[in-house]
Amino acid sequence: MADIIQLLPDHVANQIAAGEVVQRPASVVKELLENAIDAKAETIKLLVKDAGKTLVQVIDDGVGMSVTDARLSFERHATSKIRSAEDLFQLNTKGFRGEALASIAAIAHVELKTKQEQEEVGTTITIEGSEIVNQDVVVTPTGTSIAVKHLFFNIPARRNFLKSNTVETRHIIDEFQRVALAHPSISFVMYHNGSEVFNLPQSNYRQRIVNIFGPKTNEKLVPVNEDTDVLKISGFVGKPEYAKKSRGEQFFFVNNRFIKSAYLNHAITAAFEGLIKDGTHASYFLNLEVNPQTIDINIHPTKTEIKFDDEHTLYAILRASVKHSLGQFNIAPVLDFERDANLDTPYDYSNKSASTPTIEVDRSFNPFDAEKAIAPSRSNMASSSSFSGRKPASTAGWESMYVGMESKGTKSTQDFSEMQFESVESTASLFGENQMTSKQSSYQLQNKYVLSAIKSGMLVIDQHRAHQRILYEDFLKYITGKDTVSQQLLFPLQIQFSKQEHDIILNLKNDLEYAGFVFQNFENQMVEIIGLPINVPESEVSIILEQLISDVEHEVPDANFSAADLLAKSLAKSLAIKPGQSLNQTEQDHLVNSLFACKDPNVSPANKPTFITMTVDELDKKFM
Ligand code: ADP
Ligand code: MG
Repeated sequence: MADIIQLLPDHVANQIAAGEVVQRPASVVKELLENAIDAKAETIKLLVKDAGKTLVQVIDDGVGMSVTDARLSFERHATSKIRSAEDLFQLNTKGFRGEALASIAAIAHVELKTKQEQEEVGTTITIEGSEIVNQDVVVTPTGTSIAVKHLFFNIPARRNFLKSNTVETRHIIDEFQRVALAHPSISFVMYHNGSEVFNLPQSNYRQRIVNIFGPKTNEKLVPVNEDTDVLKISGFVGKPEYAKKSRGEQFFFVNNRFIKSAYLNHAITAAFEGLIKDGTHASYFLNLEVNPQTIDINIHPTKTEIKFDDEHTLYAILRASVKHSLGQFNIAPVLDFERDANLDTPYDYSNKSASTPTIEVDRSFNPFDAEKAIAPSRSNMASSSSFSGRKPASTAGWESMYVGMESKGTKSTQDFSEMQFESVESTASLFGENQMTSKQSSYQLQNKYVLSAIKSGMLVIDQHRAHQRILYEDFLKYITGKDTVSQQLLFPLQIQFSKQEHDIILNLKNDLEYAGFVFQNFENQMVEIIGLPINVPESEVSIILEQLISDVEHEVPDANFSAADLLAKSLAKSLAIKPGQSLNQTEQDHLVNSLFACKDPNVSPANKPTFITMTVDELDKKFM
């Protein structure tokens, strides 16, 4: 029998491949834009006619191609981007299959013009359905222009399958936006039927988002920045109040490549839980940077899925960072933190019904005696399982007080056992010598309040507000007293701002310098920092400045407006320890001592109480 297997002619093979790579005009847009980026273009122009059905043209000012390469670029599997299979695991380019141009040329009329910088003239090639119909020398600027006309001219079924111009244009704009968002440092313009749709100058990420989605977007953005060994996150999430019914503005980029990931999307949803209404979607524009060796993108060319080695870790980091950012910008509700400022209620047993413990009270029990007896081995108390009888009973009584100070959720038994541990310690401390002892002078409650025994009773200090007060007075002292303390940075830190943001920072330059910032350069909307106030960690700088800008923007200017004051408040707010942060004994003591060394320890910079007191008299009354 005669041999029946034959190699498909190239143009047939290419048409088949084209079916995979090019599904619609938007696919051409994506491939051409990505080639321009791989060619290191700084300016990229996209021209579209009739939703791409008549023309898709991309003009770039990248490296261009030699005569030979221009010709080769239309061959299947011809690529300059990978040489071996290993290269697939360290991709720095968008393309790597060498299929796009071959596929496009198989199903359209393509006109290429390209020139490398060192050459005087360039090359033009015209291909129709994989056949070269013209190749010539041409006068053309450095870079590459590829015009794709009459898409699917030779596959009418495909052509008929295309959707309305509105739908196809939408797809094109989606692709354009994804690429433009991933590359704010490249300038893009897009024209449709001769009119400008987008004009995006080189900018920072925030400006790029605003340029694409409109000026109102600016106030909606909350920066997210995180830098860990496995994952770097930068970008923005939309404030919860701007959550939308549609999923429109949700963008993940992994190593500058747009991806879709239901799993990572869920991490964001989880971070927003309780902050947005059901059925609405938070917007996000997040860049994730991971080691290229830990991802696998060698999948279908048109797909946007990606495989991560360690998805669970990424999920956890992503959710935590977004939550943290929402919290930092005071967007996440601070739960019972504000409400519990007055501790009277929890002590009021009359309001409580079910949770009142049913304990037998031994009236002859004297806690002071008990305390003295076990004082020498206080540290063993908590873990000791041998002490029993009355002591645990009295502990249970204390517990219920602490339970009352909780938000009114139901408590799990696990929490309860933790309470038992805490309350034993605090019993010891509070009944110690009726004043601060050297052993344990303070005690942290719920990682939120610091309790401190004083002669007349006890103090309950709100750690976040107290620390704000301390930092605020410190900064104010530096700024107004002008005795600056800075730490020099090893490498200058460069931060790009919008025009408006840059002006705000520039206006505060002197005060920022008194606070300890050292600037080197203030040009082109860029700020270069070479020194920081002693207590400002480098990783927090951009967040702090963003917060500062936002504070300035939201400040209602009045007669009392003082830039120094606002700066000190803003820095204090950004840097103060947060509710939820655990403090060791030294830190607690330091906090208490520093607070009372302040000029005005009673209130936070925002005029809210920093602590409340509870005297023994008041306590006694509660026990009547
Ligand atoms: P891939 O991008 O996967 O390498 P393509 O078919 O998209 O495959 O492109 C083939 C080759 O043509 C690229 O590897 C590159 O060398 C060259 N090329 C394509 N577009 C451009 C461009 N805009 N500027 C310079 N070179 C280009
Ligand atoms: Mg390509």
